Amino acid sequence: MKIKFSILTILLSVSIISTSCVSVNVKDNTVSHVPQESKKPKNIILLIGDGMGLSQVSAAIYYKNAKPNFERFNTIGLSKTSSNELITDSAAGATVFSTGVKTYNGAIGVDKDTIPVPTIVEHLVKRGYGTGLVATSAIQHATPASFYAHVKSRSMYEEITEFAPKSGVNFFAGGGLKFFNKRKDGKDLLVSMKDNGYEVITDKLPKSPSEKNQLILLAENGMPKMSEGRGDFLPNATKLAMEKLSKNENGFFLMVEGSQIDWGGHNNEGDYLIEELLDFDKAIGVALDFAAKNGETLVIVTADHETGGFTLASKDGDYNKINPVFSTTGHSGTMVPVFAKGPGAELFNGIYENNEIYFKMMELLK
Ligand code: MG
Ligand code: ZN
Repeated sequence: MKIKFSILTILLSVSIISTSCVSVNVKDNTVSHVPQESKKPKNIILLIGDGMGLSQVSAAIYYKNAKPNFERFNTIGLSKTSSNELITDSAAGATVFSTGVKTYNGAIGVDKDTIPVPTIVEHLVKRGYGTGLVATSAIQHATPASFYAHVKSRSMYEEITEFAPKSGVNFFAGGGLKFFNKRKDGKDLLVSMKDNGYEVITDKLPKSPSEKNQLILLAENGMPKMSEGRGDFLPNATKLAMEKLSKNENGFFLMVEGSQIDWGGHNNEGDYLIEELLDFDKAIGVALDFAAKNGETLVIVTADHETGGFTLASKDGDYNKINPVFSTTGHSGTMVPVFAKGPGAELFNGIYENNEIYFKMMELLK
């Protein structure tokens, strides 16, 4: 009885000690996402696979002839993708990453009342970081647009383009040429880009980076599909961006989007989706190779939402054959994976709201 009592006393005092530790943090009111011992990254590369749920990632296991780059991560989390609507779109889905604010579907860099919210890119430009945006869609498409523009609707492509000349973004690569120079208002915004110090490139991806800010637009609207001969645009543009931005002594932030994984999902075309996914995996490999050499770069890979209700079913009940199938031509509400590697990666363990990704990045770049 006496022994039991003293064990109980020990247990009680342990719990009191640990309780008091917690209360110090609460009183302090500075609930930090960063554990004391966590090393902070100088650079962050955020790779967004648009519409990439866990079945999409799993397709890389079955359809890539080598080990997918996804398997090089050992920190994995899950992101809850709902914002104002239970099922999110790419505008609200990217605005949470760029601003931390949950908003309505269609919103580009604005809150639920259409009030502009500063983006991670805008914060970092002010602080002298290098910034870059790469996509296989037009650079005015919802995901990249949410990092530099503020409009109430994602379909306002020409208005979105007007934010580009003064964005301070050092490197743009993707499609979207027509929104610069074939506009309803007759303006030629390529001239404004040049006036703001940009080198404008519309023929092919340069081999090496330039000192100047670069606007690389290789399609009128979205980039061609992989099956239409896009080649290694995404991994090569990622490489070029990293080479250019790593010259900035303050550090850099680069967002790379595999935009068309989502489009394969909307079309319910398994082949389209998988080709785009494998291309995205290649870009992940390029980012991880850079980060391994650089040592100060955090690589985060995630998605805004899942598209297509995609799954890897069996073919006619044959458990040795995979048959990619879809349950919707729209998005779904499933959680999406978050992969992280590099200084600060451990913060991305666990299950959390999508906007936490913004707060974790900002905390790490403090
Ligand atoms: Mg997108
Ligand atoms: Zn979509």
